[in-house]
Formats: sequence, structure tokens, C-alpha cells
Amino acid sequence: MKKVRILDKDFELFIEADTIQESIKRLAVNINNDLKGKNPIFIAVLNGSFMFAGDLMKHVNIPSEITFVRIASYKGISSTLDLKEVLGLNEDIKDRTVVIVEDIVDTGHTIEKLISQFEVLEPKEIKIATLLFKPKALIKDIKPDYVALEIPNDFIVGFGLDYDGFGRNLQDIYKIKM
Ligand code: 5GP
Ligand code: MG
Repeated sequence: MKKVRILDKDFELFIEADTIQESIKRLAVNINNDLKGKNPIFIAVLNGSFMFAGDLMKHVNIPSEITFVRIASYKGISSTLDLKEVLGLNEDIKDRTVVIVEDIVDTGHTIEKLISQFEVLEPKEIKIATLLFKPKALIKDIKPDYVALEIPNDFIVGFGLDYDGFGRNLQDIYKIKM
């Protein structure tokens, strides 16, 4: 079993790169079918979604735009409750089909905040695409439209997700060893 040490914690291999790539391709096929003719604008949430967004867009074959926003929401290994504002959206999303591209939906707090901040800009609709979803951690009344992989309630790193800034570069996903 492959292991990595990041700062003071040990992690073990959880989802291999091939499995991640296959699930992203499947997700893209669903988006291509559902959003054909809608010219969606993908809004990827940095930093965590950078790898997912890049690989996803290689398989999106309908006319679409992508842009990136930033929101600071996570310190160490527990969700912080006061989220900062969305930064960096310069595009006009009024009457557009928006697809929020997230690394992970955990409690749903971040996505709920993002949705409420985008809603005031009057898009036609907002869809959520996430690489990872922890259904057992969800406490908010939201449901991601497109999920690449459902996972249990473990803290994970890799493929864009970090532990205190490190580990984003890993091409596989690792879970924390307890
Ligand atoms: P939520 O607001 O849904 O509770 O949390 C979403 C954010 O928390 C994600 O965008 C991500 O930054 C962070 N997060 C949640 N679970 C994990 C995890 O297992 N590993 C890492 N690295 N970040 C996580
Ligand atoms: Mg995030």
C-alpha cells in the first residue's frame, strides 16, 4: 500500500489516478448530454479544484466558458464556519447556465454560500459539479448535480486537495491514517 507523509500526518493510498480519471470522464459525458445548447459557464473554485477543472474540461465537448474564483474556507483538517467572499468573478452570469466546479462537498456549507452569492447575479440556473462528495457529512439542504466519486467521512489529500497547503500535487487521492 502506497503511503505518504505530509507535515506531521501519515496518509495511505485511497483512490488511484486511473479511477479518478475514469470517473471524471463519466461526469463529463453527463454534462455534455445535459447541457448541450446551453453554453454553460464553468466557475471553478480555487485552489482545490484546479486539477479536477483541468481534467474535466479536456472531456467537455460542448461550447462553454471556464473561469476561476477563489474562496478561503478551510484551515487544518476541520471546516471553518465563517467563509470569506467569492473573489475574482469578472464575467456577467446573468441568464447563464452556471456550473460550479468544486473539489469536494463535505458539510455543504461552502457550496451553499457560493450559491447564495451567485444567485444575486441572476443566472438562469446553477449546477454543481464536484470531484468528491461525502454524503454522510452533508448537513445543508443542497445536492450536487454531478459527482465524480462519493467517499466516506475521512480526511483526504491529493489531486488538488491539501493538508495545510501541501499534497495538492499528488495524482492519486490519499486518506489520513488514524
Ligand atoms: P464544506 O463547506 O462542504 O464543509 O467543505 C468544503 C471545503 O472543505 C472544500 O472545498 C475543501 O476545501 C474542504 N474539505 C472538506 N473535506 C476535506 C477533506 O477531506 N480534505 C481536504 N483536503 N479538504 C476538505
Ligand atoms: Mg474548496
